Amino acid sequence: MSAQEQSDLALHVCPRCDGPIEVRGDVVIAARSRATPGRDIEICGLCGSDEALGGLVAVSRWPIQLPDDPHEFARPMQEQVNRLLMERGEAL
Ligand SMILES: [Zn+2]
Repeated sequence: MSAQEQSDLALHVCPRCDGPIEVRGDVVIAARSRATPGRDIEICGLCGSDEALGGLVAVSRWPIQLPDDPHEFARPMQEQVNRLLMERGEAL
């Protein structure tokens, strides 16, 4: 890998988790954070999934620690749904 390629890769760090944003050739595989109205911040795919399934974290609280297990991403939403169902007497 050339120094230029290493430099380009180094630029693709996810600001939400400090992890890498995937790059294939000259294509950057990124998601756009829902945490800003314009969705103008590129984040990694894992963070994109975490935002979609687990909820938003304010940009001021970045970087965050992602769960080791991607199945954990949806836990906050699952807990919220379970709480709502319990409140309505429809506990799972
Ligand atoms: Zn990330």
